[in-house]
Amino acid sequence: MVHDSNCIFCKIIAGEIPSLKIYEDEDLMSFMDINPFSKGHVLVVPKYHAQTITDLPEEVLVKLAKGVQKIAGIVRQRLGCEGFNVLQNNGAAAGQTVPHVHVHIIPRNPAPHLDWKSKKYDSDEEMHAYHKKLMGEE
Ligand code: 5GP
Ligand code: ZN
Repeated sequence: MVHDSNCIFCKIIAGEIPSLKIYEDEDLMSFMDINPFSKGHVLVVPKYHAQTITDLPEEVLVKLAKGVQKIAGIVRQRLGCEGFNVLQNNGAAAGQTVPHVHVHIIPRNPAPHLDWKSKKYDSDEEMHAYHKKLMGEE
């Protein structure tokens, strides 16, 4: 796999930086976003380091798309949200802050509508409680 030792998501994939992981296979990892748009927001990250989707080999992109579908199903089922947004930023001009391809899955309930300011969990315990739900442990 292509790896960049200075990249924060490569470090998370390598286990060098902790994360609340909800899924991992040979090609992908999914973990909770530390500054969620809504509670339960997760990221799906290919293990292949590249900045944007146009930099990814086609087979990696196909695996990422399948992973997004799978993780979105897990999020919807385990959190019981009515809908979800799938968001993906490419390049700083598009709002990308971490230069390693990732897809946001943002659980949604009817109101309030998505505002674009990130939120905070009320506490670490609350974030861990959402992690348990996402893991199907509750
Ligand atoms: P972007 O703006 O690049 O599309 O999204 C990057 C996302 O990564 C942001 O939503 C941000 O909260 C999240 N993020 C940045 N650093 C970390 C980290 O160290 N751990 C986790 N879990 N998420 C992070
Ligand atoms: Zn990386």
